Amino acid sequence: MGIVLKRSRSSNAELAYPVMILLNLPGCAFCRRSEAEDLKAVWSFLWEGKFEMVIRDRVKAAGGFCAHHNRLVYEVAKRDDLTAGLAEIQELVIAGVRSNLDHRPSNRRRPWQRESPSPAIPAAGPCLLCQYRVEAESRMATFLADRLAQPESLEVYLASDGFCLPHLRMVVAEADSGTASRLVQDLDRRLADIRSRLTEYRRKRDYRYRDEPRGDEQHSALDATRQLGRQRFAAGEASALTGDAPNTRNESESGHHAGRLAGK
Ligand SMILES: [Zn+2]
Ligand SMILES: [Zn+2]
Repeated sequence: MGIVLKRSRSSNAELAYPVMILLNLPGCAFCRRSEAEDLKAVWSFLWEGKFEMVIRDRVKAAGGFCAHHNRLVYEVAKRDDLTAGLAEIQELVIAGVRSNLDHRPSNRRRPWQRESPSPAIPAAGPCLLCQYRVEAESRMATFLADRLAQPESLEVYLASDGFCLPHLRMVVAEADSGTASRLVQDLDRRLADIRSRLTEYRRKRDYRYRDEPRGDEQHSALDATRQLGRQRFAAGEASALTGDAPNTRNESESGHHAGRLAGK
């Protein structure tokens, strides 16, 4: 089921083509794009999504957001002066959580009574913004797999920093077998390079070799971390570099379409 946020109506190309442009920047271009889309989804939720009943119900039923989005929603609300709207949503979430709490008084058990199950706090539901992110990334992966089947696009990708492992896994799963095998070979080359630099790094940590000049093995652990997992960019960097920053508005500004670009 699609999530009723405006961004979910973007076409695949609109959502994913910027990844191809971002390939000339350092790091995983898929991560950059996904992070920018994530910020937009948060902003869109705070600005308009939170007024839609179906979204309010889902957020309430889920008991709020995951830890990542809980923080991000707060950061965006604070940045764009949307904290009054956030407070209202938080009241709603808290009301939902409280209504599901087990209010049974703690009766002292008599020796002949069976122990009743102790109260538990109901598990949190799926995070709405995570669901949106999963859907958006899956559409990006499909588009990119298609795009990379074109030799000129593949050349651009091979010359770039490449995608992180989780994102490449998604793209390869959608690619035709020829493209998939080029991408896998390229990944293997990148992993072999990082691995040999990690080994070299550990060797130079040995006191016997510690006077040897330092090289690019010094940041191999950071490179491996970036390759193996998702990458995070400094706040706003993912979007600001593309000129694709989410609109930011002051809640007190009039006019629903009076957006201005984040000026950082
Ligand atoms: Zn990535
Ligand atoms: Zn989430």
